[in-house]
Amino acid sequence: MSLVDRDRAHVWHPYTQMRTAPPPLPIVSGKGVYLHTEDGRRLLDGISSWWVNIHGHSHPRLNEAIARQAQQLEHVMFAGCTHPAAVELAERLVAVLPPGLQRVFYSDNGSTSVEVAVKLATQYWINKGEPERRVFVTLHHAYHGDTVGAMSVSEDSVFTRAFAPLLFPVVRAHAPYCYRCPLGLDRASCNVDCLGDLERALRTLGGSAAAVMVEPMLQGAGGMIVWPAEFLAGVRRLSDQYGVLLIADEVLTGFGRTGRLFACEHAAIAPDIICLSKALTAGYLPLGATCVTNAVYDAFLSDDHSRTFFHGHSFTANPLACAVAVASLALFEEEAVLDRVGRLERQLMSGLAPLRELPAVGDVRVIGGVGAIELVTDKGTRGAGGYLDQIGPRLAAAFLARGLLLRPLGNIVYFMPPYVISESEAAWAIEQIAAVIGALAPA
Ligand code: PLP
Repeated sequence: MSLVDRDRAHVWHPYTQMRTAPPPLPIVSGKGVYLHTEDGRRLLDGISSWWVNIHGHSHPRLNEAIARQAQQLEHVMFAGCTHPAAVELAERLVAVLPPGLQRVFYSDNGSTSVEVAVKLATQYWINKGEPERRVFVTLHHAYHGDTVGAMSVSEDSVFTRAFAPLLFPVVRAHAPYCYRCPLGLDRASCNVDCLGDLERALRTLGGSAAAVMVEPMLQGAGGMIVWPAEFLAGVRRLSDQYGVLLIADEVLTGFGRTGRLFACEHAAIAPDIICLSKALTAGYLPLGATCVTNAVYDAFLSDDHSRTFFHGHSFTANPLACAVAVASLALFEEEAVLDRVGRLERQLMSGLAPLRELPAVGDVRVIGGVGAIELVTDKGTRGAGGYLDQIGPRLAAAFLARGLLLRPLGNIVYFMPPYVISESEAAWAIEQIAAVIGALAPA
């Protein structure tokens, strides 16, 4: 019996329309930017295995770090215990994070790093004696994860709608989605006027606002929306002006994906709380980290038990995950990884720009190691099908037939390879994308 037949008998996959889904890809090994299937196909991993892989699959240095750690200590609870890998990772993170982020709270994945941020911000204000500060201000098109708190702060969308009764209310402000400007303006002449909506929200909420939460510079699952850095600078300014915490969800953008180690660097800002996961372990193992300033940490520092942050997971700070994260950060130092991302960004910009002329292409957006193409049904009206547009699965099948693994977000096709992709591999992938999109019938 093949792996796919056995899988179909018992396994339930995420985000899968069960009756109409194509069979899952039986992946048996990976090396560099390639994945290998049971039936002998070699696929270029064009989405870095859900945005986590940065140094390539089965990297010898990372493999070795895990093997070494497994010989020493595979796991220990993190309440009341510590271990060298967690301490070293915290030291290394604090050394490279935006200034002021000094404390690392570990969890298990991106969503839990967000849950931790939401709970920390809530209790921060209680501990500070301002319990009425409870409302989160988030942005349209946001995606922060699939757990209940993370869904609450995300956009009201197909991802969250069935769970609406479980979610807490938030106030949502405009995102700087320049191709579909919420104010109908043009980026060439606007003054990031869309920030006014965030200001209005904060002014209206006054003393009931707890925090602003954003995905800095690149809103991922909401459509690969690339921001002007001025918007991010404005978010920090307004958070200060209205005295609320700024939470940067860098689960996707952290560790070089936007060309800087952290996306906050594009606007030279530092948040009060940052959420990290995905590439934190170079895509090897699940690990989350929510890092905060001493000002946030100090609000919990007390002899009074009621001020304690009562949150922890069985696998918090798993030593194997911490060890591979340490090894990944060492690679950043040794291999000029950000230069690699810079070269990839330039190649994506020049390689994808001509696609703008195609009849089905509305917009092309590039930042760091991400290139996105927004497909439209009508260039004039910018009409498009959105996330559930069947063009996504159709195109995914066409890319797969050519040996390229992509997973469009409906009408948003994006390419986000591991940073180790070579120039010729990236050129090949861009060629496949251009050919498949170029073959779409004119609208
Ligand atoms: N935050 C952002 C910005 C994300 O892109 C994601 C996942 O795509 C998450 C949080 C959730 O991370 P995880 O899938 O590890 O729970």
